[in-house]
Amino acid sequence: MAELFDILSCSKAEIEQYLTSVGEPKYRAKQIFTWLHSGKSFDEMTNVPKSLREQLKENAIIRAPEIEEKYVSRDGTVKYLLRLFDGELIEAVFMKYNHGNTVCISSEAGCPMGCKFCASTLKGLTRKLTPSEMLGQVLTVEKDTKQRVSNIVMMGIGEPLDNYDNTVKFLRLVSDPDGMNIGLRHISVSTCGIVPGINKLRDEGMGITLSISLHASDDETRSSIMPVNKKYPIAELLDACYEYFDKTGRRISFEYTMIKGVNDSPVHAERLGAVLRRHMKSSPVHVNLIPVNTVKERGFVRSDEATIVRFIEILAKRGITATKRRSLGSDINASCGQLRNSKNH
Ligand code: SAH
Repeated sequence: MAELFDILSCSKAEIEQYLTSVGEPKYRAKQIFTWLHSGKSFDEMTNVPKSLREQLKENAIIRAPEIEEKYVSRDGTVKYLLRLFDGELIEAVFMKYNHGNTVCISSEAGCPMGCKFCASTLKGLTRKLTPSEMLGQVLTVEKDTKQRVSNIVMMGIGEPLDNYDNTVKFLRLVSDPDGMNIGLRHISVSTCGIVPGINKLRDEGMGITLSISLHASDDETRSSIMPVNKKYPIAELLDACYEYFDKTGRRISFEYTMIKGVNDSPVHAERLGAVLRRHMKSSPVHVNLIPVNTVKERGFVRSDEATIVRFIEILAKRGITATKRRSLGSDINASCGQLRNSKNH
C-alpha cells in the first residue's frame, strides 16, 4: 500500500492538485482545508460527498498529536506532553494573558543547538516536526481547553530556524483566512540566532515578530553558554536583527536568561545596553529578563531579585525597556524540555 499523505501539512493549492489528480472538483479543496483546520476528521466533513471522504481516508492521514499527559496550574496555564504518530514526545503550553490565549509550541523533537542551560537539547535532536505537527499542537490545545487561541509563540522544544521550511509553511497555514486565521502579527518566532535563517525570514514578507535568545553581551560569555555564537557572533547577529527591523518594521525582543555569576553583573548590563544601541541604533527594542530555571543536569542558579532590579535600571538609563518575564505555571514546571526528558530514556 502506498504511504498515506500528510494532508494537514498541505496548502490549499496542494489539496487542489490532489483533487484534480483523482478527478474531483477543485472547489472542494477549500471545504476540506477549512474542516481540517478546525480539527475535524474526514467523517465529520459533512458537505464533502461520502465517496470523496472514503477516498481521502484511504490515501491521506491527519497527523495531529495526542495528549499523553496534562498538568493544570492554579493560574490557568496548562502544560501538555504530546505524543506524535511515531511515539516521539513533545511539549506545548496553553497560557491565558490579558492580550489573549497563547499557545507555546515545539518545532522539533529535541534540539541540536546545545545551549548549556537548556533542558531541551540535553539529548540532542531526534527529528524535525512537520507543519501538521506544529499546527496539530494548536488544534489539540484548542480542542482540549475548548478555548480559542489568538496568539502563538514558537518557544517550545527545538530551534524553529533549524527547521526553516516546515516552520514557514506552518506560519502560512496557521494564518490562512480559510483555516485558523491567526494573524502573523500575533505569532512570534524565537531563535538562538541562526543568522541566515533570520535574513531569509526577513525576506518572506510575513512580518513575524522575532524574539532573539541573546543571554549575554560579549562573545566570550555567549559562546561559553551558547555554541551557536561561535558560528554567528553577537555583532553579526545584531546587525541581522537591525536589518530585520528595518525591512519589516517589527520591534525585536531579546530574551536574556539571568544566571547568577555568569551574565548578571552591572558590567554585563552596561555592555548589553551599549551593544544593543550600537547595532540596533535607535530602533525600539525590548529585553525580557528570565531568571534561569534550574535544570538538574545543568547546575545554573538564578540571579537574585536585587540583581535583576539593578540590571533593569542600568538598561533603562540607556533608554532600553527591560522587564522581568512574568512566569506562568511555575507550580507545574511549565518551562519546556524537562517533561520530555523525564519520559525519554
Ligand atoms: N531555540 C529557540 C526556541 C526555544 S525558546 C530559541 O533558542 O530561542 C525557549 C526560550 O527559553 C529561549 O529563550 C531559551 O534560551 C530559554 N531557556 C532555555 N532554557 C532555559 C532555562 N533553563 N531557564 C530559562 N530560560 C531558558
